[in-house]
Amino acid sequence: PYDMLVIGGGPAGAAAAIYAARKGIRTGVVAERFGGQVLDTLAIENFISVKETEGPKFAAALEQHVRTYDVDIMNNQRAEKLVPASQPGGLVEVQLANGASLKSRSIVISTGARWRNVNVPGEAEYKNKGVAYCPHCDGPLFKGKRVAVIGGGNSGVEAAIDLAGVVEHVTLLEFADALRADAVLVNKLNSLPNVVVHTRAQTTEITGDGQKVNGLSYTDRATGEKHHVALEGVFVQIGLVPNTEWLKGVIELSRFGEIVVDAKGQTSVPGVFAAGDVTTVPFKQIIIATGDGAKAALGAFDHLIRTPVP
Ligand code: FAD
Repeated sequence: PYDMLVIGGGPAGAAAAIYAARKGIRTGVVAERFGGQVLDTLAIENFISVKETEGPKFAAALEQHVRTYDVDIMNNQRAEKLVPASQPGGLVEVQLANGASLKSRSIVISTGARWRNVNVPGEAEYKNKGVAYCPHCDGPLFKGKRVAVIGGGNSGVEAAIDLAGVVEHVTLLEFADALRADAVLVNKLNSLPNVVVHTRAQTTEITGDGQKVNGLSYTDRATGEKHHVALEGVFVQIGLVPNTEWLKGVIELSRFGEIVVDAKGQTSVPGVFAAGDVTTVPFKQIIIATGDGAKAALGAFDHLIRTPVP
């Protein structure tokens, strides 16, 4: 069995694996896709000390760093079930989609999250070519340009307020009759001169010139009228979904499906820790996920040295 088994090979998982291996304990990583979300990222400009890099390059560096240690990397493997230890300090079991079963004295779950797509024509085509999901990451790329935000919940309204300070103009589109964000955010939004809000607006297409985004089409659900707005960027803010479907009923999850963790990354299941976008940690960013992975691995190591083997 392993001493520490990491599930997920994104920034959080890579950091956890390195911190575990450096303790000289038996460490494994199971990843559906080693690298995680950064594989789908173009420019990264906010990983402190690295002025600028690209997602696939960053992912390759993560893997290279992990491979300098004695870590079993099981790539292209999906975890499907977690079985808690039958007694304190016992082995936790993780079952994989390929039928294999792995056992470990401690687990770090770092299966990340995925942005919900609007699924309209143009979204996939222009991803990273004007279609973006993270205002902290990509906002500055649209300095002085016109953008839209799709989604009028807290994250959409926060994104619009944030972007209004960076870009020239923001159009916010909400499908429902009213914005669903907290009143304090809506008031702040309404005070900004360079933001226009359209409610009852159903986005129907993100348009482009073949190279990059040049606009967005929506239907006014009240009148049925069709509109087109010329702009350079579209931020999709209709939810970040944690990859926790396989943990339902086993580990405590928040109402958003995130794994509930304490300050050391401990979950509701003894010996099982979690880190990064999959957890309740606020703000989903690479630098936060890596720090979180290190923290959860140290939390798990602390658990190992304090818990007698039954
Ligand atoms: P993830 O990166 O999501 O990694 C999850 C890992 O778990 C993957 O290896 C995945 O394959 C694996 N996995 C999932 N389910 C299972 C399972 N059941 N079994 C086994 N493995 C599983 N952040 C920034 O700081 N700066 C940026 O510029 C930036 N740009 C971004 C651009 C885009 C397009 C996107 C999508 C995100 C961007 N982010 C950016 C956010 C950043 O990528 C995430 O915050 C970060 O990757 C989270 O790391 P993580 O390790 O928690 O999860």
